[in-house]
Amino acid sequence: MWVEALDLVLQRLQKSKLDFEKIAAVSGSGQQHGSVYWKNGSSKILSSFDPKKPLIDQLRDAFSIKESPIWMDSSTTEQCKAIEKAVGGALKLSELTGSRAYERFTGPQIWRIFETQPEVYQNTERISLVSSFMASLLTASYACIDQTDGAGMNLMDIKERSWSKIILEATAPGLEEKLGKLAPAHAVAGLIAPYFVERYDFNKNCLIVQWSGDNPNSLAGLTLNSPGDLAISLGTSDTVFGITTEHKPSLEGHVFPNPVDPKSYMVMLCYKNGSLAREDIRNQCAAKSWEVFNKFLQQTRPLNGGKLGFYYKDHEILPPLPVGFHRYVLKNFNGESLDGVSECEVKEFDPPSEVRALVEGQLLSMRAHAERFGMPSPPKRIIATGGASANNYILSSIATIFGCNVYTVQRPDSASMGAALRAAHGWLCDKKGNFVPISCMYMDKLEKTSLNCKLAATAGDQELVSKYALLMKKRVEIENSLVQKLGRL
Ligand code: ADP
Repeated sequence: MWVEALDLVLQRLQKSKLDFEKIAAVSGSGQQHGSVYWKNGSSKILSSFDPKKPLIDQLRDAFSIKESPIWMDSSTTEQCKAIEKAVGGALKLSELTGSRAYERFTGPQIWRIFETQPEVYQNTERISLVSSFMASLLTASYACIDQTDGAGMNLMDIKERSWSKIILEATAPGLEEKLGKLAPAHAVAGLIAPYFVERYDFNKNCLIVQWSGDNPNSLAGLTLNSPGDLAISLGTSDTVFGITTEHKPSLEGHVFPNPVDPKSYMVMLCYKNGSLAREDIRNQCAAKSWEVFNKFLQQTRPLNGGKLGFYYKDHEILPPLPVGFHRYVLKNFNGESLDGVSECEVKEFDPPSEVRALVEGQLLSMRAHAERFGMPSPPKRIIATGGASANNYILSSIATIFGCNVYTVQRPDSASMGAALRAAHGWLCDKKGNFVPISCMYMDKLEKTSLNCKLAATAGDQELVSKYALLMKKRVEIENSLVQKLGRL
């Protein structure tokens, strides 16, 4: 499918009279975690593409596995346990690779293929990720896996940015050779292959910059680039991306190398209960209307009088808790100290408090987990995106709780925008002969990036931010005890 899509997209662009000759560099975005298995001898097929024939006809025989595993595969629970055991536990694996073991990650996938189809594994000369696979097609040679997407495999030592020998040896024999080398995301994978020069009139000097995963590209597309930058995507599910200087391992969430700066890290937190939980509470308590929902946010005071809520309409990932709503009232909470503060579980809140407890609860959870991963408090700036970032009341709650300015950027295509920005960045680094910060490409580094970020809410008062820090601490205590009681850790 990916092979056919490449020719189809290029043909469509050719019909729209795009002048390929003018393109200086190309990069791209591939779904994270998916893997491609090249059959023994396929490097020859790659290096001898015939420009007169479509790629699909030339690559039919190039793969040892016809159906590539993608992120939706969850068949590798046993291999996840084994990979964690091999390094001394889940937290150790997170410390080493940036994440505990996940079924969709490529390492457990490879382990399973080796275990269940050893002959297929033996017949494989190279394993690519979706991202490095596409770069391989464009350069007509095996491209490196980029270090950022490589961190989505449970195989890479995230501090060294090299393959972890201990995990590779535990996973399958001869794996290092099949994976090839790693490269930073801004590196050049090679020149565009003659196939594309002859068939589509690309300039023969066009650079192919390493492709990367969709999430890292989204981070680049939202113009996050230096430590302290945070993005909150308020979509069907909520996702938080942040940039940190240090790597603090945790059992939940993921750390990848920052795709636009080889010295820092990108933290990613995923919440299942985002807009769907907000919609559910809106429907139950606010007459199915965002207007009423917002009126309740206006009517109630920050800190919600110590009312805290946990709303899981779906099984939650962060923290790992089953479906259920839990409400607490903090006694003696004055925002000054937690001495003498205790919580009392209650069955319900009045509707306005319920709405505020939901919004504050979701945001406090994001702040707590982002800080646990080493995000500074307050962040340098927050970029909000996704459907619910249209809601100014939610945006001002973000500014109040995190204590920094909030900007919006409406960009449904942030992953492809990120890939385009990274192509330019890779080209610039190549031209200069060394790494240059991506922010050099923006007009104004904070307020008006080239993507028209708009200031949507200004930082709240810092005294309130400290009070929220105490509320957050208490919330984390309650969250931990809920996980112990109901979770699956
Ligand atoms: P997806 O993750 O599927 O791309 P979107 O980013 O388009 O989703 O976000 C869709 C969500 O945005 C909807 O589920 C809806 O609940 C939410 N949404 C839209 N308008 C508002 C609003 N004014 N206030 C809060 N949430 C909103």
